[in-house]
Amino acid sequence: MASAPRIFQLVGTCNNYHWGKKGRNSLAARMCEKATPTGFEIIDDEPYSEMWFGDYPDFPGRVAETGEPLGDYLGKHKEELLGAKIVKDFDAQLPFLPKILSIAKALPLQIHPNKQLSERLHQKQPDKFTDPNHKPEIAIALSRFEVFAGWKRVSHISPLFKNPALAQFVPSGTGEWTNDTLRQVVRKLLKADEETVMTVENEIARLSKNDLRKAIGEDYMADLIPRLQMEYGSTDPGTLVALLCMNFLVLEPGEALYIPADGIHAYLSGDIVECMARSNNVLNVGFCPPADRDNADLFTEMLTFGPDTRGDITLPRQKSDAGLKGRTSVYQPPIREFDMLRIDLGPDEDEEIQALEGPGIAIVTRGTGILHGNDEEIAVKEADILYVAPQVQTEWRTSSDLQVHMAVSGLQ
Ligand SMILES: [Zn+2]
Repeated sequence: MASAPRIFQLVGTCNNYHWGKKGRNSLAARMCEKATPTGFEIIDDEPYSEMWFGDYPDFPGRVAETGEPLGDYLGKHKEELLGAKIVKDFDAQLPFLPKILSIAKALPLQIHPNKQLSERLHQKQPDKFTDPNHKPEIAIALSRFEVFAGWKRVSHISPLFKNPALAQFVPSGTGEWTNDTLRQVVRKLLKADEETVMTVENEIARLSKNDLRKAIGEDYMADLIPRLQMEYGSTDPGTLVALLCMNFLVLEPGEALYIPADGIHAYLSGDIVECMARSNNVLNVGFCPPADRDNADLFTEMLTFGPDTRGDITLPRQKSDAGLKGRTSVYQPPIREFDMLRIDLGPDEDEEIQALEGPGIAIVTRGTGILHGNDEEIAVKEADILYVAPQVQTEWRTSSDLQVHMAVSGLQ
């Protein structure tokens, strides 16, 4: 068999979940259009939620030149394109799955089950849980990015539950709240009937910003409740769990967060680069129609709790030694599957990324430039996606500006 090129272009596949931004407002759609040589038609009224560009078969990245799904191609050139370590440790599959998301309204309130539960669910329902893996993920803001993630401190949650409309969700005899109190409260909120959810939501919607500030020190709930009700109606329990119990964070471009396995989250708006362990397992309980919701008991049983301050949830961007000229930073989640490099170049600047033990997938998120590697030069522009084989040093340069996000395995 002919040997594979060490660097080659990929195209992503876009999906159309209803929460995606519509038509040309979607960065995922615009990127797909720019990167697809055979053409990709954007329809104005259609939502474009995510562009995937990994080897996962659901919405596969493809080799640009041939259209072959990346997974099939890697399968033919395992050692060359994945490296010995990934062949051995990750069953000859890319350990990470990168995506671009364009979010117009809340994604389902969700957790991604840990490995143990994923294995169990995959065995029982392979059609729904399509792999046995966990899915810790990172999200890097490309625009302003709103998100519910992790839990507020119980001392910030419990005061509002003294309100008569909410007291019914607190187990009788509760004194000081513990994490287990919160687990039981969340279970009851998720299992409440639609009538009850609506009554409670309307009760909360009546509270003034002043009342809220006095009770819990925050007033964003007053603005978010009508917005979430417009998106998902007044009977979705996700609104109650997210507003009453979870942190609401706004990230600016370049800021990132890390969601561990079993970590609760619901992204609300923005364009992001997302990267996760290679999995598609999810349990949804809110911000989706009742028929799409998973079992609330299973969901609450799996929940993990804190520490969940903004500092715990956000993932710092640090300078990376992988960039030999100091123009590279890295987001490093505490997992072994991947890290995300970011290269930022101004006019007439360049950067060299050292050869790594594992492969990388780079996406140009801004500007134009030249990629040099393995004695080849490739002109690159925004939305281009490049596969870089293990042990290949790359050099990036531009006369204008260039920003690249690169998911890598085997950094350290
Ligand atoms: Zn998620």
